[in-house]
Amino acid sequence: MKLRVRVDHATYSALKEVEEEYREVLTDAINYGLSNKTTSFTRIKAGVYRTEREKHKDLPSHYIYTACEDASERLDSFEKLKKRGRAYTDKPSVRKVAVHLDDHLWRFSLDKISISTKRGRVFISPAFPKVFWRYYNKGWLIASEARFRLLKGNVVEFYVVFKKDEPKPYEPKAFIPVDLNEDSVSVLVYGKPILLETNTKKITLGYEYRRKVTTIGKSTKVREVRRKLRKLRERDRKADIRRKLAKLIVKEAFESKSAIILEDLPRRAPEHMIEDVKDPQLRLRIYRSAFSSTKNAIVEKAREFGVPVVLVNPSHTSSICPVHGAKIVYRPDGGDAPRVGVCEKGKERWHRDVVALYNLKKKAGDVSPVPLGSKESHDPPTVELGRWLRAKSLHSIVINHKMIEMRV
Ligand SMILES: [Zn+2]
Repeated sequence: MKLRVRVDHATYSALKEVEEEYREVLTDAINYGLSNKTTSFTRIKAGVYRTEREKHKDLPSHYIYTACEDASERLDSFEKLKKRGRAYTDKPSVRKVAVHLDDHLWRFSLDKISISTKRGRVFISPAFPKVFWRYYNKGWLIASEARFRLLKGNVVEFYVVFKKDEPKPYEPKAFIPVDLNEDSVSVLVYGKPILLETNTKKITLGYEYRRKVTTIGKSTKVREVRRKLRKLRERDRKADIRRKLAKLIVKEAFESKSAIILEDLPRRAPEHMIEDVKDPQLRLRIYRSAFSSTKNAIVEKAREFGVPVVLVNPSHTSSICPVHGAKIVYRPDGGDAPRVGVCEKGKERWHRDVVALYNLKKKAGDVSPVPLGSKESHDPPTVELGRWLRAKSLHSIVINHKMIEMRV
């Protein structure tokens, strides 16, 4: 949030002095990063600190830290621009400077903000706009990083950042197991298994096909080809699906004070996963978006809401009957229901993803009874992508599904 304030001449010139020296440190730090081919804050700081300290003796030393951080960020985003072919200079320019502050360099209070300079602390008293109070009164905290920029006419522009404190995870009253698959995600809510179609594999293969058509016989260095590839927006589409999915699951868990159970997945695609896709690059891409990125999206969202997440060992989650502990046999040829198997002991039928859900729950320590021989165990309701993407909650999906079934 930007706060603007006009200050007296003495304050302004004390800040101006800081800004000028900060700019010098920043420029040196960027040049150091460029000539040593690094964007790392620690390496840049180690490389320039001593000389900068000599050069700027009375400048509060933390300005050297924050200038190195600033340099590292600028170098990083410059690298990214260069990779995308959008950098029009051979090094990041230092035209505009906003002086970065850390918790040693400034203090916040409602009647004045103090900033360290070469002449001791100076004080500014900005007026706070309405939005400021909205955040301030709603429990948002002011981050320790801030910035200031100097404008004409003795005006200081001060940037404060609001952040939300991460809530502490609660003691869970129940569990929501979530099983990730290449084309769907299954969840157990209110004791009912449901399959949410994500079509991750289908979408990835579809884009792969369109990408091939776009690039066939052409170089991806050509601007026109690159523009067309960007327009495919594969990443955006999949990220949208993931975000929505994470939100639905985490909201449900939060409202019922449940913990989410997920498989602790390996970093790379295990060989048996997505085995029908031969191209290893493509297989890894599907694995990343269907499994690891989806898992990360759920874990991140859960952290934001303070929803506990239990990660369990993924071995045998879909091959052992959760009721009898016997092996579940899936027909090797697949048949018309390749994901449905039969328990060796009880002979009841199970859908692979439902088995996984109950086993995840057991592995997390939930010993509540598993329903035996229900229709849902081998034929769980499946919700199409377009339908759950529009849903407000998992709860409403389960209810709607029941109503549809009753009408049928
Ligand atoms: Zn069984």
